[in-house]
Amino acid sequence: MNLPDGLIPLADGLHLWAPGHTGTWGFANCLLITSGRQAALVDTPYDRPMTEALIAAAGRVLPDGAAVETIVNTHVNGDHTFGNGCFPGAEIIATRAAAEHVCREPSPAQMHFLTHGTPADEPLGWYAREHFGRYRYDDVRAVPPTRTFSGRHELRVGGVEAELIEVGPAHSAGDLVVHLPAQRTVCAGDVLFQGDHPVHWNGPLAGIAAACETILGLDPETVVPGHGPVMSPQDVRGQLAYLRGLEELVHARHAAGLTVAEAAADIIATGYHDHLGLPERIVILTAVEYRHLDGDTGEPDLVHLAARAADWAYRHRGPGGQGAPGPSVPTPATPAEGTAATAD
Ligand SMILES: [Zn+2]
Repeated sequence: MNLPDGLIPLADGLHLWAPGHTGTWGFANCLLITSGRQAALVDTPYDRPMTEALIAAAGRVLPDGAAVETIVNTHVNGDHTFGNGCFPGAEIIATRAAAEHVCREPSPAQMHFLTHGTPADEPLGWYAREHFGRYRYDDVRAVPPTRTFSGRHELRVGGVEAELIEVGPAHSAGDLVVHLPAQRTVCAGDVLFQGDHPVHWNGPLAGIAAACETILGLDPETVVPGHGPVMSPQDVRGQLAYLRGLEELVHARHAAGLTVAEAAADIIATGYHDHLGLPERIVILTAVEYRHLDGDTGEPDLVHLAARAADWAYRHRGPGGQGAPGPSVPTPATPAEGTAATAD
């Protein structure tokens, strides 16, 4: 696996682990906050080899003998938390809502089964191997948060002040963003993606848009998305336009009586932001939005949602895949302003 061997200096006391690799799943950004001998890490990588690579890179930034004592999980998806176990004794902070909904997340054992135990010639097994087969789940020990909060939580790392702000439910049930006012930086977790279509498991789309508004209201210069290159406020406004445009497209198709599969295939066929990777995520976004429009208050099933996306991808990119059908519902203009293209 091609991983960075160093951290990128972002601002005073901030270094970014940016594994890149858009067009696939699981390579999440992590932000190291340091001051003197104190260190905190926002999010941990998906498996032990990646986390060990991050720890080695962090070792070149931290003073001798200093170690990460605090972990902040922006949410509890495995690609932001499975490395928690590589920091024994660290305090792990997340929102109360995130901790309460951790049962939604596929466990390391389930991810191992998905990538090894499912039929490789069926859509979900093919997709899981394609996008998650590079990670090692067999030695991951999922470690839950040790401290939770609701609303806002002040975190001090030596001389660096950080504010943890709950913005969920949005991408997940319990998202937070990390605001570093002196560095004019916000670490947004998976409220934001750059380079690929976003994926959101909880929704509704209006909730994620509200979280983006909260981030812009903090007046940052630099925004670290959960995945992909660092963003400017203009990029965040581009993501807002994406979310609002998609909401309009999904609601029109729901009102017209299309099924989730029909609506999603139709929206993808319009070429919606087709410079971005992973268009099959529109299937998940559509299914999640339909749940809200239909008043479904049950727990979302993440593997079932991923299987829907895998079905679409298998038919269009898998063995023997075919081209997408043309659009059947008129499409309003979709602003693309500020949404950057894939950078790596
Ligand atoms: Zn993620």
